[in-house]
Amino acid sequence: MSTANLQQTLRNSIGATGVALHTGRKVNLSLHPAEVDTGIVFKRTDLPGGVNFPARAAAVGNTQMATSLCSGENQLSTIEHLMAALSGLGIDNVVVEVDGGELPIMDGSAAPFVFLLQSAGVVAQSSSKKFLRVLRPVSVSDGDASATLSPYEGFQLSYTLEYDHPVFAAHAHTATVEFSSTSFVKEVSRARTFGFLADFEKLRDLNLAQGGSLDNAVVVDDSKILNEHGLRARDEFVKHKILDAIGDLYRLGFSTLGGFHGHKSGHGLNNQLVRKLLSEPDSYEIVTFDQGDQVPEAYARQSTEAA
Ligand SMILES: [Zn+2]
Repeated sequence: MSTANLQQTLRNSIGATGVALHTGRKVNLSLHPAEVDTGIVFKRTDLPGGVNFPARAAAVGNTQMATSLCSGENQLSTIEHLMAALSGLGIDNVVVEVDGGELPIMDGSAAPFVFLLQSAGVVAQSSSKKFLRVLRPVSVSDGDASATLSPYEGFQLSYTLEYDHPVFAAHAHTATVEFSSTSFVKEVSRARTFGFLADFEKLRDLNLAQGGSLDNAVVVDDSKILNEHGLRARDEFVKHKILDAIGDLYRLGFSTLGGFHGHKSGHGLNNQLVRKLLSEPDSYEIVTFDQGDQVPEAYARQSTEAA
């Protein structure tokens, strides 16, 4: 019997160690099962008493480079790829402990987090999973960049990249992912973050991206990809933007029944979209399903991918 209508958490606790992108320091991460309706809660164990950061839209701070969560004066950065993995596997409740101000960057994709979550195991819980159903289109824009959520009884994302650059001109810059027929694990989770060499050099000068390397990003100079083995897929760039959007949308606090379209949007605009939707209560409703087989295919599929 399908349990796709139920909340999910981890079967066991699990840990990993990695490098923080900006400080270059080693960080330890551990993920723990949590009670129903906990949501995704991050906890910084390096701060006195431990400081909690619920991964909700209201707590989102500086989004210049990555998604940060704020709790008073304290920040926690680079949560988006783990958030994408949690969303992609349909995990509703988890406590994430980290002993620093950034999550480890791992390989720049969500795949190491997917592996970690699958290794811990995923279990259905006793309460209904809550879905956020988009009831009318909501859009935000900034110059020629835009992000929109629209009604759709499933979960679909599309994205268009635009860079006036030979490498991007030579690769797919548009992608649509419809999760009733697409595997998050196989088609999206492996797409790595990317950046321009010149930007990395600027960030290094600002004492940022100290942990950045060809092991955790696709790096592009004026004419070519610098990574020895190139891309993992021809559409890796645009798929990574979709991966980022999945992580950003999960801060709605629910699995989305809707369609997302991004045009050159990044974390900042995606976060604005999430906040705008939540600030307009007539634009969405929260729904549950009595039976697993009533859940749209996109989410029925998740519970099998998590196993
Ligand atoms: Zn990213």
